[in-house]
Amino acid sequence: TGTVIGLDIGGTKTRGVRFEDGVPVLDESAGSSNVQNVSREQAMANLAELFGKIGGGDVDEVYAGAGGIDTDEDAQALADLISPHVPGARITVVHDSRLLLAAGGASTGVAVIAGTGSAAWGRNAAGEEARAGGWGYLLGDEGSGYWLGREAVRHSLRRMNQGLEPDTLSRALLDSCGVDEPGKLIALFHSPDTGRRYWAQQARLVVEAADAGDDTSARLVDQAGRDLADLAEQAVRQLGLDGPVILGSGLGMNVRRLQESFRARLAERGIVDVRILQQDPVFGVPRLVAEQRA
Ligand code: BGC
Repeated sequence: TGTVIGLDIGGTKTRGVRFEDGVPVLDESAGSSNVQNVSREQAMANLAELFGKIGGGDVDEVYAGAGGIDTDEDAQALADLISPHVPGARITVVHDSRLLLAAGGASTGVAVIAGTGSAAWGRNAAGEEARAGGWGYLLGDEGSGYWLGREAVRHSLRRMNQGLEPDTLSRALLDSCGVDEPGKLIALFHSPDTGRRYWAQQARLVVEAADAGDDTSARLVDQAGRDLADLAEQAVRQLGLDGPVILGSGLGMNVRRLQESFRARLAERGIVDVRILQQDPVFGVPRLVAEQRA
């Protein structure tokens, strides 16, 4: 099985784990190298940083799961950015949602990413595959960190328009963004100094306010869970499965309230085998490499 580097390339970071015979021996991160979010130059710089830390020599295989990989051309373009760092290695690039199912120890089922972005992907025993969402922040990404951050901004602007004072969530957002009135959020949102990752990071404020009892924030987190469940349900139906559904990534693994509304929505639809991923998606790589070689 040899030396394999697994990469998980999300909207915020690139995580790389070096496996020797399936055992993780190095685990490093750098900025995102998802070319849907960052320029090609930035992606190249972040990959160079990552391979500088993790080493590119004597590698048999690189297996990368990346957001923004929607066509064979997308996959090839990313493989071309990786290959100079790992001379002689075989390189496989797949959509990042594929890592989750494997990390959850399943070969069939539906995996849902709730991170900076969102997406669902699944496979059944006949090998049929289905995807739902994962169109990026401008077209969708319902229930993602970016979606929650943007909804917090929209909530604050709605209150401003209604002549209401900033509430708990709006105040938290203004503080976090370092601005003194909601109107300034509009320019900040569209400014090149902020971006998908910046707004996705504000999701944390919504989760904290919800946990502290703020109703608006609780409703937003619940909505995110339901929207993610709807993505999962679509893929589950299309594949004729009844589970498992595996929820993972930053929000999916860590936000209890979101997990609960996700489960509740799926239970209403008769889907009850719902699991929360217990490790990062990149740890699905050894299983995927083994499946590929089988
Ligand atoms: C990207 C998808 C990705 C998802 C989760 C979305 O923004 O468009 O390709 O799967 O984020 O990382």
